[in-house]
Order: sequence, then C-alpha cells, then structure tokens
Amino acid sequence: MADEQLVQNVVREVVARMQISAPARGMHGVFSDMEEAIEAARTAQQTVRLLPMDQREKIIGAIRRKTRENAEILARMAVNETGMGNVGDKILKHLLVADKVPGTEDISTRAFSGDRGLTLIEMGPFGVIGAITPCTNPSETVLCNTIGMLAGGNTVVFNPHPQAIKTTLFTIQMVNEASLEAGGPDNIACTVDAPTLATSEIMMKSPHIKLLVATGGPGVVTAVLSSGKRAIGAGAGNPPALVDETADIRKAAEDIVNGCTFDNNLPCIAEKEIVAVDSIADELLHYMLTEQGCYQASEEELDRLTKAVMDEKGRLNRKAVGRSARKLLSMIGVEVDANIRCITFFGPKEHPLITTELMMPILGIVRVKDFAEGLETAAWLEHGNKHSAHIHSKNVDRITEYARRLDTTITVKNGPSYAALGFGGESYCTFTIASRTGEGLTSARSFIKSRHCVMTDSLCVR
Ligand code: NAD
Repeated sequence: MADEQLVQNVVREVVARMQISAPARGMHGVFSDMEEAIEAARTAQQTVRLLPMDQREKIIGAIRRKTRENAEILARMAVNETGMGNVGDKILKHLLVADKVPGTEDISTRAFSGDRGLTLIEMGPFGVIGAITPCTNPSETVLCNTIGMLAGGNTVVFNPHPQAIKTTLFTIQMVNEASLEAGGPDNIACTVDAPTLATSEIMMKSPHIKLLVATGGPGVVTAVLSSGKRAIGAGAGNPPALVDETADIRKAAEDIVNGCTFDNNLPCIAEKEIVAVDSIADELLHYMLTEQGCYQASEEELDRLTKAVMDEKGRLNRKAVGRSARKLLSMIGVEVDANIRCITFFGPKEHPLITTELMMPILGIVRVKDFAEGLETAAWLEHGNKHSAHIHSKNVDRITEYARRLDTTITVKNGPSYAALGFGGESYCTFTIASRTGEGLTSARSFIKSRHCVMTDSLCVR
C-alpha cells in the first residue's frame, strides 16, 4: 500500500513537471502578442455578454470542477515554479476557491416603481477587463478573478507575474477548456506567454480594456490608478494581531500561528506581527513555543536572519519570501526539528522584521503596557494600508474601538486570519482584496456596472 502511494505521488509529480515544462502557446487563451490576446478576449466577450445567466453558471460550475480535480497539480506547479508556499495549504486554497468564490448569485437587480412607471437597475459587464496578478497566489487569483468577471458577463486579459508564468498559463488553459466543455466560447481568459512591463503597458493603454484590476504591491496599484481608466487596486498590507489580557491566550496563540503559517505566510491578510499586552505576553509566548511549533530566535540569530531575508534598503530577498521557518533558519545555519513552523521573538515595533511586510513565517512580538498603547502600536504597524488587522479579546468595546481605529477592510476577531476568506469563518473567498479603492473582498458585483432601465407610464401595477 505504501509503495502504491509512493508510485502515485511520483506519477503526479512527473505529470506536474511535464505540464510545467510544456506550456502550449497559441491555444486556449495563450498568445505571444498582447494585442492578439486582447482581440481574442473581445471576440469571446461578444458571445459571453449574450449568454443567459444559467449558461454562465454552467461554465463557472465547470471551472469549479476542474479546479477541484487539479488542486494538487496547481499547488505543486506553483511551489515548484516559484519556490514559495507549501503544497498542502495551496491545495486547501484551491478547494476554497472552487467552493466559495461567488458566481452569478452575487449579482442582483434593483427595482422601483411609482405613478410614472417602473425602473430597473440592472448590472451589466464592463466588457474586457485587464487584470494583473501576483506570484504569491498565482492560480488562485486567476481563478477567482475569472469566475467573478465571467459571472458579470466580462472576459479578461491577464498580465501575470513572470515568476509564476507556467502555473498561470496552465490555469488559463484550464479555464478555457472548462468553458468549451460547458458549451461556452474559448478565450474567456487570455494572456501572453511572456508578460513584461511592456505588455502590461499595452494592456493598460488599450482602448478595448474598460476596467483594470491590480493585485500586488504598491507599485502596481499606483500604476493602474495612474492609467486614466477605472481601476480596482488590491495592494499590500502588514496585518498586526493584537492580544489583550481578556483573550483566551492559549487559543490566541493557536489561531495566530495557524493564520501566520498558512501557505508560509503568503496571503496578504495573514498575521505579520503580534502586539501583546504586557501582562499576558509571556504566557502567549509560552503557548507559542510549547504547543504551536514556534522557535524563539536569539538577538544574534535575528541579526543574521534580517541580513538573510532583506537587503540594507529593506528590499526582500525573493529566495526567502514564502519559505518555511525551517528553511529560513537553515539559511542562517540553524537546524531545527520538523515540528518548527514559525520563528518568533520580542522586539520593538521599529524592528525591520516587524515593521516590514515579510510574507515569511516570522512573528515578532511587540510588548505594550496596555490596550490603549496596543491600539496605537497596531495602527502604526499597519502603515495606513487599511488592509487587514486582527484582534484577540473578549471585550466587545475594545474590539469595536480597534476595528474603528484601524479602519481596515478585514478585521478578524478571535480567529485565524483566513477565517476572513470563508475558511473557518462566515465569508466568501477571493484573493483580490481591494482596500485602496474600497471594493473590499472583490466578487462578481465588483466587476459590473449599473444600468438604469426606465419604463415611463407603464408596468406600475400598484
Ligand atoms: P508585485 O507587486 O511584485 O507584483 C504583482 C504584479 O504586478 C506582478 O504581475 C508584477 O509583474 C506587476 N507589477 C509590478 N509593478 C508593476 C508596474 N509598475 N506596472 C505594471 N505591473 C507591475 O507583488 P508580488 O510579490 O507578486 O505579490 C506580493 C504583494 O502583493 C504583497 O505586497 C501582497 O500584500 C500583495 N497582495 C495583495 C493582495 C490583495 O488582495 N490585496 C493579494 C495578493 C498579494
């Protein structure tokens, strides 16, 4: 039985590697020229906009099914290609996308009637949307963007991160195969096989692209917002997790480390540092060390770690982003047991490993004297991104004050950060969280525009 499992794993790995090394060009949405990709998406959109909602839903259903079937292959491809994250959590992320990204049910019509007739406010497509995707969640972002955009009657052209191109090409081809199998058109999602800043520029300037959606760091969000077009910007965060003395400290330690280590800290919503009230800070660290697989780094190790994961200007070492705690420690010559999943330490809020959005399982703890100081410290650490901030407290007034003061798109209370994506919490899933432009957790309703359909002097039967 063990041998059989081993053979199955090897076969899966080989298949994934073959697919990585042989991205097919010129088919199912993959083009060598950005103008061609845009043209193909335009043609497909002419069909999609006329599809009944029921038919759009059939295509979305096929995308969900293929995502489930290929969850492991997609996870392995992304880890092999980018070196970031871990296969187990990436499988979960894909299953979450398949199950919890909203489809056409997210779109509703409003109506009002009166003496002078009936007006419907119906939501229709923008047309072809231009989307830019990150290397941290490459296939997940393509999938949730495509599902939401298609539900709204749009098609999409992607300019993906070059570091995750093979995974992205595979995903785009899979999406188009799903459309064809469900009776829809090819090229509902398109891209180029060698994306660059130049192809991005062509996409942003194209008169045929009516809406831009950027998921990534501050540079790309500023780029789309400066394009002169309508744009949705899903940018960076640096989410603090505040723990006060009223919290269930043991559970807080478990939730925070679970959230922080999910996919090696790649999600933008993941806990990036802890702010702990002095009276419970040592207890919190105790549970993190004894029950949650954390390793407490010494001052000297921290200095080496800082130099290993970023340069003197604070730029991240791409070979450290999304790596496991064990891998990060091995980069500085420290070998630890297999159960270690997070690196921790006490430090001032200005410490570079605390104030920087690392996307690595490193959780610095800032000790504060009380909740009031914790509130200000957490707000400072979030850097005004207004993205995500989490809190562990049983005091409802403090939770309310925290959520108001930080004013973030996401605030998870007494749970791991991924509860915000519907994983152990009441929510739907997306990997495009638009804090800067205010759409919040994007879904189909973010990618449609309003149409006022006015019938005068009829159809009001009141
Ligand atoms: P990145 O900013 O390096 O790249 C994101 C995408 O933007 C890539 O496709 C890249 O090629 C492109 N890009 C970068 N600068 C550009 C420019 N000036 N013009 C046009 N395109 C440009 O980010 P990354 O390392 O791939 O992803 C990690 C970052 O993304 C983190 O800061 C993380 O918080 C953020 N992120 C945010 C969300 C969200 O939903 N808010 C989701 C995932 C990642």
